[in-house]
Amino acid sequence: MTAPRVLVLGGTAEARRLAEELVAEGAVHVVSSLAGRVRDPHLPPGEVRVGGFGGAAALAARLREAGFAAVVDATHPFAARITAHAAEAAAATGTPLVVLRRPGWTAAPGDRWHRVPDLDAAARVLEDPGVTRGTRVLLTVGRRGVAAFAGNRQWFLLRAVDPPDGPLPERTEVLRARGPFTVDGELRLMTEHRIDVVVTKDSGGDATSAKLAAARRLGLPVVVVDRPPLPAGVAAVASVAEARARLEGLLGRDPRMRR
Ligand code: NAP
Repeated sequence: MTAPRVLVLGGTAEARRLAEELVAEGAVHVVSSLAGRVRDPHLPPGEVRVGGFGGAAALAARLREAGFAAVVDATHPFAARITAHAAEAAAATGTPLVVLRRPGWTAAPGDRWHRVPDLDAAARVLEDPGVTRGTRVLLTVGRRGVAAFAGNRQWFLLRAVDPPDGPLPERTEVLRARGPFTVDGELRLMTEHRIDVVVTKDSGGDATSAKLAAARRLGLPVVVVDRPPLPAGVAAVASVAEARARLEGLLGRDPRMRR
């Protein structure tokens, strides 16, 4: 009997870990899908395909043609388009869908967070002296998120994996770096660059949370951009273990699928 094929929509540490665990077990044939945005991605084991599908209908056609038994959307919490397409394609083809979303961050005592609904609101908040008087900003919203700040007057330290290709604020220094980051490293970075406000998306997870602890220690305000909502009717699991359990429930109780 051939192993059922599972499409893992990835680009996150969780997607890679899920692929690693599923490939190690060998109960399913894993095809990981990456958007192809990062120049030098950490590839998961198993089959990997790279690049967009060409929209929800094309993704549905791919699910049908390749006979995927299930699709796992383990994309980044801010990758709303592919999440919407996955939900639409899964519904259109009757393919079981598991959505894996790491939990967002929660404020701890001492945090000075300003939650905002989107990147444009974050850019506006920086211009509002009633909220933050920050003039030197550590901006960690990804290289494509920076365009929202292009009209801002503050000085920005833009940290991103790859260099930005869109419009930048007039006063920007680009720092290329990929997590995980440490609290000590973040404290050093913020101190050396005299950062007085941090802007982040609510990405969640441990790899990039050290900036929050460092900002707390330094008493700095943090502008936190909320996640886009999941598509209507879609529920998510919060961990790789839960995603595997959900897959096991969907695909049958093959003992190799158990931990
Ligand atoms: P997005 O806005 O939701 O997606 C834009 C388009 O990129 C989609 O319509 C799809 O193209 C293609 N795409 C996205 N993820 C894909 C995947 N895993 N496999 C194949 N095609 C994919 O996504 P994004 O925010 O640009 O993020 C792109 C990728 O980077 C995602 O895989 C995500 O997990 C990862 N990532 C994103 C962020 C972030 O902050 N947004 C952070 C870290 C990692 P078609 O319509 O042509 O199919």
